[in-house]
Amino acid sequence: MRCAHWRRVPLDLVREAREKSAVDHVDGAVQCQLSAHEGGDHFSLLSDTGPYGTALWLCWSGTSEAGLVVLPDCSVAAPSPDGEGCCLFVGHAKRHTWEGAREEVSCTS
Ligand SMILES: [Zn+2]
Ligand SMILES: [Zn+2]
Repeated sequence: MRCAHWRRVPLDLVREAREKSAVDHVDGAVQCQLSAHEGGDHFSLLSDTGPYGTALWLCWSGTSEAGLVVLPDCSVAAPSPDGEGCCLFVGHAKRHTWEGAREEVSCTS
């Protein structure tokens, strides 16, 4: 099950994301893209237009301020013949996005 935590993206971070990644549109609120987890930080993809193999993420924990982080892509692909890639970042907690139900997390969201 996908983590149910949402976070409003502060306007200054929207602006910063635009400057950093030339991202056109940042949603006003984003949902954590990890599968359900206990504790730890939440992460939502803001833009994958960064330098090759990296992406811009919004990172937050329960109470603290949200922040922008640039993280390298998770390079673990599914062991199936089509080798579907994972949409998350290196060292993420819990499951890869190709594990479990496909509709839970989309690379394009
Ligand atoms: Zn989460
Ligand atoms: Zn992964």
